[in-house]
Amino acid sequence: MEIIFATGNPNKLKEVQLLMPKNVKLLTLKEVGFNDEIEETEKTIEGNSLLKAKTVFNKLKRAVFAEDTGLEVKALNNEPGVYSARYAGENGNANANMQLLLKNLEQKKNRDAQFKTVLTYINDKGKATQFTGIVLGEIIQKPTGNNGFGYDPIFKPAGFKKVFAEMNDTEKSLISHRGIALKKFLSYLKS
Ligand code: IMP
Repeated sequence: MEIIFATGNPNKLKEVQLLMPKNVKLLTLKEVGFNDEIEETEKTIEGNSLLKAKTVFNKLKRAVFAEDTGLEVKALNNEPGVYSARYAGENGNANANMQLLLKNLEQKKNRDAQFKTVLTYINDKGKATQFTGIVLGEIIQKPTGNNGFGYDPIFKPAGFKKVFAEMNDTEKSLISHRGIALKKFLSYLKS
């Protein structure tokens, strides 16, 4: 079967491809000729995930899935959450976002955090289903490692000695928020 993965993020694409069974062909937005910018205007991760999938389905009327991810930090009232990409401002990059987060955590003892991914699948008839993946962990004191993307250099999953940015893509995908959501989605597709 063929499914469109509605993302413009090559890192997400790589991680998802690693877990996809051979009988599912992943199509990128580029491959299906969808070049519109999708603005993430909702106030929740669930809302933005649905918005991305719906926008593509409404245009192409083909099976599609999208995901939205946020980093929720306990001592910061679960911020940056849905605003993770824009934490340091609209033009903020991953480094600026991490630096701001570390600064805001300077005086806090509790560094517990979780990554949350909500994956939305819309089938070819337009029915939407959501799958959530959460990984618990903590924010370390300073960025470490060169792999991954976004907040990976400061997030250490619970029970592991390495941050995500010190793991290779396969190691990360097997335990990550995105991997968990994707595995739920794949078992739904099978059943
Ligand atoms: P979005 O889901 O593309 O909107 O991403 C939200 C923000 O979280 C962006 O700043 C991403 O770089 C970051 N992010 C998303 N997934 C991950 C991940 O797996 N590891 C680290 N950062 C991530």
